[in-house]
Amino acid sequence: MSKRVIIVGAGPVGLVAALKLARAGIAVSVLEKAEALHSEPRASTFHAPTLELLDTLGLTTQLIGLGRPAPQWQYRILETGEAAIFDFGLLADETRYPFRLQCEQFNLVTVAAAALEKEAPGSLIFGAAVTDVGQTSEGVRATFTRNGKIETLDGAWLIAADGAASVVRTQLGIGFEGETYPAVSFTVGSPFAFHDHMPGLLGVNYYWSDFGPFSMFHTRFMWRIGWSPPPESRDEDTLSDDIVQAKLAKICPAGAPFALMTARLYRVHKRVADTFHLGRMLLVGDAAHLNSPAGGFGMNGGVQDAFNLADKLIAIYDGANATALLAKYTRQRRSAAVDDIHSTSDANYRRHREADPAKRREALKDMQAIIADRDKHRAFLMDNALINSYRRSEAIA
Ligand SMILES: Cc1cc2nc3c(=O)[nH]c(=O)nc-3n(C[C@H](O)[C@H](O)[C@H](O)COP(=O)(O)OP(=O)(O)OC[C@H]3O[C@@H](n4cnc5c(N)ncnc54)[C@H](O)[C@@H]3O)c2cc1C
Repeated sequence: MSKRVIIVGAGPVGLVAALKLARAGIAVSVLEKAEALHSEPRASTFHAPTLELLDTLGLTTQLIGLGRPAPQWQYRILETGEAAIFDFGLLADETRYPFRLQCEQFNLVTVAAAALEKEAPGSLIFGAAVTDVGQTSEGVRATFTRNGKIETLDGAWLIAADGAASVVRTQLGIGFEGETYPAVSFTVGSPFAFHDHMPGLLGVNYYWSDFGPFSMFHTRFMWRIGWSPPPESRDEDTLSDDIVQAKLAKICPAGAPFALMTARLYRVHKRVADTFHLGRMLLVGDAAHLNSPAGGFGMNGGVQDAFNLADKLIAIYDGANATALLAKYTRQRRSAAVDDIHSTSDANYRRHREADPAKRREALKDMQAIIADRDKHRAFLMDNALINSYRRSEAIA
């Protein structure tokens, strides 16, 4: 029987898992249905624990070079300039990376794929859409279509890193309970120098304004601006250039008309798989859990899953008890998804979308009070940088 680990999906989570296993001398094959790596920006925030983990694979220095560290972030009222500014500098004794790195997800995908190709040439197989998975007590089999033909690949374990609509999770019949948030989210990318025109702008900003909340993140080459269109909007209207330009002109009149590099509409879910493992099938990343993007936790949580699981598989290849370790994987990472990531991203989402100006002002005052108290400020940052989440999950027996 083959000893290889089959990884379905060459997103950030699948590639990191593959690279970590390959570096430990374990044979891997990554099956990716697309014909090339995805180039959508999607996630743009890397938190400290993720950067520390990626550094063990030698990727963090490259990512910092491709991104833009944000040492502070804020909630801000556009019209009045009142702000609550959080300072990651308070975490300098907790992490080597006391900042949020703003760097598009495709950068991680690109550097991880290049490192994997060096470590295990030919292990990343494009144009391979997995349609069926099966397992026995001895091993796993993935069936996929490639170039119009049906092929199979055998292995010892299969990691489902095939994203939110995971075929593997669905085939296994694993429940994926939760909710879909009522509002859709919309993000555009623009190279315009908003920072030259908006006083007080930081690298990461959650704005409240008279015309609704919006966020602004500064990556190396663009500003990413996100908002939710009114519930009655049709998708084609939200995406129309006139409406996008009008919204951006309200945010920063000086830039109109704005050059746009990207525009994407997406639905936001809060869901978690009932279990992260079933026999030899193992779930990671968006295949296992989804959360609102408020706080930038989805990819971070997924990369942390990949490291946790890869460490356990490496121990299993060295003779450790698989049943016990994989149960621990589900306990640790499911708890991180539900107890920390869901609760913190949900609180961030609701706070930022608060429609009542009086309640918003109250929320701003609450955050200013937190910032004024060093211990509370640190505790808030430890949650929002996912440091507490990572440490708590690792400590679960
Ligand atoms: C606009 C936006 C902003 C976001 N911002 C952040 C952020 O700032 N920080 C953060 O941490 N997260 C953020 N997220 C979430 C983040 O993008 C996801 O959590 C992350 O992409 C999950 O990675 P993944 O590898 O699990 O899945 P994916 O990135 O979805 O990758 C899955 C891969 O599997 C492949 N695949 C799917 N089905 C099959 C199949 N049957 N056979 C073979 N291959 C298959 C797909 O082609 C894809 O390459 C954001 C998401 C969005 C939409």
